[in-house]
Amino acid sequence: MPARGAADETVPFAPPFDLAFPDDPSPDAADPGPGACRRASPAALRAPCGAGADRGTGAGADLPRAAPAAVLHAAAARADLLMARRIVVLTGAGISRESGLATFRDADGIWAQVRIEDVATPDAFARDPARVQGFYNARRAQLRDPAIAPNAAHLALARLEREHPGEVLLVTQNVDDLHERAGSTRLIHMHGELMKARCMSCHGASPWRADIAPDSACPACDARGRLRPHVVWFGEMPLAMEEIGAALEACDLFVSIGTSGNVYPAAGFVAEVRGRARTVELNLEPSEGASLFDEAMHGPATQVVPAFVDALLRGA
Ligand SMILES: [Zn+2]
Repeated sequence: MPARGAADETVPFAPPFDLAFPDDPSPDAADPGPGACRRASPAALRAPCGAGADRGTGAGADLPRAAPAAVLHAAAARADLLMARRIVVLTGAGISRESGLATFRDADGIWAQVRIEDVATPDAFARDPARVQGFYNARRAQLRDPAIAPNAAHLALARLEREHPGEVLLVTQNVDDLHERAGSTRLIHMHGELMKARCMSCHGASPWRADIAPDSACPACDARGRLRPHVVWFGEMPLAMEEIGAALEACDLFVSIGTSGNVYPAAGFVAEVRGRARTVELNLEPSEGASLFDEAMHGPATQVVPAFVDALLRGA
């Protein structure tokens, strides 16, 4: 049975809709039904996602791992891929896992230890802001750890942006900053950014690498005690969906990397572009939406992403 609406994407740190509760409290979360977050229509791109979640067993934790080398060839030599001019790349937790970041939805991930409704919803923040800030301060501290660095997959995507003669837009569900640190510049964080604080007074998002304290002042308007993590919480709207929708509409090649295929609205992107653009999945194992893609390369992101980018650039 397919996982319910939410999250796997485990945006390392992000909260979003990606949330797997071990003890899902709400009937709605238990079954989002056919509407809300599983639509693969333009409306889905604009719909808030609230739904429930997979039980957190990890993205196919019990599935056999495909040998990367066995599937590397499938996509690599396709001339139509090589000629793609406008590329949209969607990334999820799977690309950051090999950088050492704790994921949210895996069996041993963050949501196995912390309840989403305690730390990753607007209600949680209203009820106990110190607890929510503490949770994200800890995530931010982990991201500041010098041992955490972009891996070969992040670097390959930055190279793709630099060297591909056409357009490359990177849309990430991750709230970490590893894509930026690898050198990507055309980047949308649809679930927000851990290294920014958002002001509830002026609504601006400012770079913020330290802890957010109860009396921290907004760098833009100087209001105190009005900062929150710049992350999309469970039940909130993803960011920049109009821009993402326009890019999907125009793209020739859509590549989904390290996503489980069950976190909407991102999981609906492939259905949006099917038939108009070539679609490729790069993932540790086939995702839930694997059958919607034209091509797939399965294996660790640090292997399949550089191999795919190499092939693309050789023919571009
Ligand atoms: Zn402000």
